Amino acid sequence: MSESIHERYQNIKTRIADACKKADRDPSEIILIAVSKLKPDEDVIELLKDGQLHFGENRAKALEDRMTAIPDESIQWHFIGNLQTNKIKYIAHRVNWIQSVHKKKALKEIEKRAAQENRTINTLIQVNISEEDQKSGCAPEDLEKILQYGQSLKHTNVCGLMGMATYTDDHEVVRPEFKLLKQLSEEHQHLNDGAVNLQHISMGMTNDFDVAIEEGATIVRIGTAIFGERNY
Ligand SMILES: *Cc1c(COP(=O)(O)O)cnc(C)c1O
Repeated sequence: MSESIHERYQNIKTRIADACKKADRDPSEIILIAVSKLKPDEDVIELLKDGQLHFGENRAKALEDRMTAIPDESIQWHFIGNLQTNKIKYIAHRVNWIQSVHKKKALKEIEKRAAQENRTINTLIQVNISEEDQKSGCAPEDLEKILQYGQSLKHTNVCGLMGMATYTDDHEVVRPEFKLLKQLSEEHQHLNDGAVNLQHISMGMTNDFDVAIEEGATIVRIGTAIFGERNY
């Protein structure tokens, strides 16, 4: 019989702990997001029973449905996908984190919707760190002005950066991409006399999360290794 979701989950936690040990980091610094995508709600509920609280979806509709189906208030919901500004209104009442913002326009809309709901949404700015996909994330040169704008918002807590490395098993391809995100985080830390909060770096997926942890990730987003084969 193949491994159960519980076994795979424990296995990932062990691998995160091992990566932390290797990098001389404390595992409590790392937030593990279980990326459930098209998997059934039952799988999410099983992980919730194991104590997993951070879950991620990459489609607004899927996230909206999931948040309705599993109303547990202890869950932190993350939107991690390509964000269409006109979809923000469907998730703003409940989403805790939007990780994939790369335009001022999207920040403006998040602010508007979060204010209407009288809540605060954590956001990360997605930066394009791989040559592979020009669509996802802002260019490194645009980061400063987006962060400056984010600073002015009251219901939008911009608190870090997110990136996706090239989709490959080759660690030596992804490592420099992760190093770039870490370096951009350090370079922008000092904006506005240090008022910009870049506490979080979200990078690393099933193929490369151990490298990402070595390179400074504070959030890893793992789907396949927990939920089983990709069906998307
Ligand atoms: C699907 C997805 C993940 C998880 O990918 P796996 O390789 O299945 O771990 C992480 N981040 C984003 C943005 C995703 O779309």
